[in-house]
Amino acid sequence: MTETSGPAGADSQAILTIDLAALAANWRVLAERVAPGECGAVVKADAYGIGIEAAAPALAKAGCRTFFVAHASEGRRVRAVVPHAVVYVLNGLLAASLPTLIAHDLRPVLGSLEDASLWAHAGEGHACALHVDTGMNRLGVVPADVAVIAGMGLAIDVLMTHFVSSEATTDPTNHAQIARFSSVRTALPQARASLANSSALYLPQKPYGDLVRPGYALYGGNPTPGSDNPMQAVVRLEAPLLQIRTIEAGEKVGYNAQWTAKRRTRLATIGIGYADGLPRAAMGTDDRAGGEARVAGVLCPFAGRVSMDLTIVDVTDVPETALKGATAVLLGDGITIDDLGLRAATIGYEILTRLGARYHRVYVD
Ligand SMILES: *Cc1c(COP(=O)(O)O)cnc(C)c1O
Repeated sequence: MTETSGPAGADSQAILTIDLAALAANWRVLAERVAPGECGAVVKADAYGIGIEAAAPALAKAGCRTFFVAHASEGRRVRAVVPHAVVYVLNGLLAASLPTLIAHDLRPVLGSLEDASLWAHAGEGHACALHVDTGMNRLGVVPADVAVIAGMGLAIDVLMTHFVSSEATTDPTNHAQIARFSSVRTALPQARASLANSSALYLPQKPYGDLVRPGYALYGGNPTPGSDNPMQAVVRLEAPLLQIRTIEAGEKVGYNAQWTAKRRTRLATIGIGYADGLPRAAMGTDDRAGGEARVAGVLCPFAGRVSMDLTIVDVTDVPETALKGATAVLLGDGITIDDLGLRAATIGYEILTRLGARYHRVYVD
């Protein structure tokens, strides 16, 4: 167990516990699923908020050899902790990132004809990947350009594409994208095929190719929305109860008085707010239920607006004696990142990648 700051609770901080054994177990589940294809790991955005320096070595220890990041600077961080990793940089090739790519042996994912010419001139023959856009209209070359780039003599070792809606298993777009990808693959027969993010590992078409790129599922996100989550939770978030007070029915709570007590209500003010990455949109108002915290085993709704460093929860249903020494669990004990995302009108991906910098972080394995 490694801790990143002083003893838990010493600074009234919320505690973020990151389970590296669960991360490794999730990777193994996916790796077995796609075998004999290779399972990589997407560790962009500081490994979806949990920390590249902890996540990448844990994944490497589980057997992962190939990592995907968004920026060259993130790739450099992976290189520093997993020296033998194969690292692809998804966001394409920026001239300014060339020195970092070359110095740290990172492979750009070329996404345009300009990227391809730049790497042909400056890439010193190093390996790279090519991204073909099969319907996202975001990054990647149009299918017709694959043959053009194939003629440029680059060391393209992976040909990849990205799904538009792989979590929607019956969406015909998935099939169309797979067909478009297959039609260009012949132009680069030596390159390995890489199509799948987390949810695509659960598509009926099994578009695993030679190398898959899960991110969200590794960190405990549900790759099969609407069905049971096959992954283990990786993050647990707990905030201290700072104050308990009782108010009368009709009293209002928090900024702009958006929540009204419908009964005599016991409130707990907890030490976490939007500055910690708890979305303000998870506020509970008279019109709309918001987020929930579990206190002494009881689900307690947010009462009023989430403020910068504080959130108020309705703990009326928690026996008074159980409140002593209790904490408010925001993630864990049955509350998932997908749940909180839904309550905050966003997705679990955003919950993870906004996990705050001032948590007391505890890594367990
Ligand atoms: C972020 C990303 C992934 C990982 O997606 P998840 O849904 O988190 O598994 C894979 N491929 C590309 C190109 C990405 O940008």
